[in-house]
Amino acid sequence: MDLGLIPHGAVAAREGRVVWTGPETEIADALEVPDDAVVVDVEGAAVIPGFVDAHTHLTWAGDRAAEYGARLAGATYLEIQAACGGITSTVRATRAATEEQLAALAARRLDSFLRHGTTTLEAKTGYGLTLEDEAKQLDAGKVAHPVRRVHTLLAAHLTPEEYAGREDEYISLVCDRILPALAGQAEFVDVFCDEGAFTVEQSRRVLEAGRSLGYRLKIHAEELAHTGGTALAASLGAVSADHLIHITPDDVALLKEAGTVAVLLPGTSYTLHTTYAPMRELLSAGVTVALATDFNPGSCYSENLQMSISLACQEDRVTPAEALRAATMGGAAALGLQHEIGSLEPGKYCDLLVLDAASHQELPYHWGVNLVAGVIVGGEVVVRDRQLVSPAVAPRATH
Ligand SMILES: [Zn+2]
Repeated sequence: MDLGLIPHGAVAAREGRVVWTGPETEIADALEVPDDAVVVDVEGAAVIPGFVDAHTHLTWAGDRAAEYGARLAGATYLEIQAACGGITSTVRATRAATEEQLAALAARRLDSFLRHGTTTLEAKTGYGLTLEDEAKQLDAGKVAHPVRRVHTLLAAHLTPEEYAGREDEYISLVCDRILPALAGQAEFVDVFCDEGAFTVEQSRRVLEAGRSLGYRLKIHAEELAHTGGTALAASLGAVSADHLIHITPDDVALLKEAGTVAVLLPGTSYTLHTTYAPMRELLSAGVTVALATDFNPGSCYSENLQMSISLACQEDRVTPAEALRAATMGGAAALGLQHEIGSLEPGKYCDLLVLDAASHQELPYHWGVNLVAGVIVGGEVVVRDRQLVSPAVAPRATH
């Protein structure tokens, strides 16, 4: 894969956007550099586009560390639910938290995402599950911070306790009340379509209602079992279908035909000891693939997209170049932002990373550490020598 690498390259930006890239020896002839320009000399380090993490559950409260240990000790899903509360405990804690508390948690996590090189991320709701609590979660995810954000309403994440056994009634609440009330406040609507979550028919209701209200579409599909969410996504023109561990060759063809992006989340497979989505097959079929973290308190508690790149290379045998492209351009496509971010091309935002490495190939190879030494968002240096640059960054949570 040709990444368009430029040895001894330079990037010029003005008013937050890239205006020129090329060999550094040509910059003086190519454009007039004003005397007051900020010059950053990275001394031969690799420079790559900022990571675009197209699938995160950013805002939630609570602590599920005990659940991780219980699962390793062999506890079943139901035993965990009974002993630790599982996802229901996250819903309870998120409902009990104020918007300010959730915003402080989000800001602290965004600091971590930024230090690990994520300059744009998608933030889902889905732990509120009432109109008021979904709105609170959505607003908390908009806390002031240099990381660019795209917001997704995932009210159809699970059926809340108070609607147990009345899933269709809860779907009606989502379609008739929550989605209309929050239209215009989130770019995407999403639904968890899977065994033990919502059926294809319930998912169709959510996505069709969302589409008619102006939301763009995403879906959690074929993570736990094959239930048909991918075909639904393709038929409705969804921007992305996410997880896709159990997709079939027919699904792959449908994604290609519909132009729906496959968002793969290898960190979740790693945490849950499951198989990995077939990234190699998807790429071979010409499907646009994005790599994302799935950051969440149950199945992937990591802000580090470098780890997802490493897992994709190790487990799916994709090349470092393919994985890097999926974590940048692929993520941008999964958010409908491929003309704004995802690569260092004139006209796009100047969001870039300076690696503590001479080549992008070290990202999967030198694994388990943070290789991001510097971060620039919109032309502003926000991480220098691995440290967040203040005062651009929101204050720390005090809990
Ligand atoms: Zn998810």
